[in-house]
Amino acid sequence: MEQLYSQLDAVYDEIVEIRRYLHQNPELSFKEEKTAAYIADYHRKLGHEVRTNVGGNGVLAYLKGEKPGPTVALRADFDALPIQEQTDVSFKSANDGVMHACGHDGHTATLLGLAKVLNGMTSDIEGTIVFLHQHAEELPPGGAISMIEDGCLQGIDVIFGTHLQAQMPLGEIGYRTGALQAAPDRFDIKIQGEGGHGAYPHDTKDSIVIGGQLINNLQQIISRGVDPLDSAVVSICNFEAKNPYNVIADSAELTGTVRTFKEKTRNFIEKEIEKVVQGTCQVSGADYEYTYTHGYPTLVNYKEETEFVAEVVNDVPGIESVNETPPIMGGEDFSYYLQHVKGTFFFTGAKNPEWEKAYPHHHPKFDIDERALLHAAKALGKATLQYMKEYANQSFNEVIK
Ligand code: MN
Repeated sequence: MEQLYSQLDAVYDEIVEIRRYLHQNPELSFKEEKTAAYIADYHRKLGHEVRTNVGGNGVLAYLKGEKPGPTVALRADFDALPIQEQTDVSFKSANDGVMHACGHDGHTATLLGLAKVLNGMTSDIEGTIVFLHQHAEELPPGGAISMIEDGCLQGIDVIFGTHLQAQMPLGEIGYRTGALQAAPDRFDIKIQGEGGHGAYPHDTKDSIVIGGQLINNLQQIISRGVDPLDSAVVSICNFEAKNPYNVIADSAELTGTVRTFKEKTRNFIEKEIEKVVQGTCQVSGADYEYTYTHGYPTLVNYKEETEFVAEVVNDVPGIESVNETPPIMGGEDFSYYLQHVKGTFFFTGAKNPEWEKAYPHHHPKFDIDERALLHAAKALGKATLQYMKEYANQSFNEVIK
């Protein structure tokens, strides 16, 4: 592994340069044409076989080792968010209202730097590496599902991925067997009351009052309906009923998100919200419309691969602690890959120890300590080479292109 580490050290400046370039030129989910072209071009220059437009803007690049072995996929996402950047970095977003505020620029830079180094180490590669560059992680239905439908997992034995974590200290790796990230769903409720003059409420069915009741009633689904030892969230994030000051609202709309880990809880909440909406509206004689939209599934890591990664990254230079991390309520469409192939997704700490405060992901001041990119590259690189060594004699498929 010494060669892997020293060569990654040697390309660190380039990894940072790539990250900054991507950061300055962010593109929204499903619109990442330039980013996809940049990634494809980088791999082509390395001589990799490249497949573009995979399920949309997805890019696949293949690196075949000199010895036979399993096919390992490494995934990095590359889309940005509709956020106006508020940092003071010199490579601040040049696209108004678009920002890499989740670290996907870092994921991509990490994978490209690693690809460059592994490209020069084919005699150590026992099997095939697939660099899986995924578009549109941030916006459901996400890019993973369409890339899978377009065959991105064909021939793949195992998949690894990491997410930089701005609030986890630099030098830390977080792993977890089983459920790591929640299923993020969306619900939309429209209350149809009867508007009227603000002075004559008795002649109306006030959608704002009904909506207010609904906000409270919906909170009881978690507090009284879900096992306290299970975890779930119902958040109403938007309540709209705009009227002049003396007009009672004819209709109101509430939108929010549900987060769950278990399918049973997910289905329960989906049905329970409607029951509460129906009951609350019925009491006031109002009608309603209700839509529940499933987002990504729960991300469930495989035990063997998770323990394998936790074990092998322990002695990676720069990584000081490897900890079991608690699950998080944020969603991640890496979950789809794990419904088809085994693998694991882990967190790489990216919080600069000198920062008093690390802004959360999706914040306009979000930032990462770039040294985390090197840690992520070394961890993924070591996991890949070590996996190939240990599983070289197990069954493996030819990559079908
Ligand atoms: Mn993300």
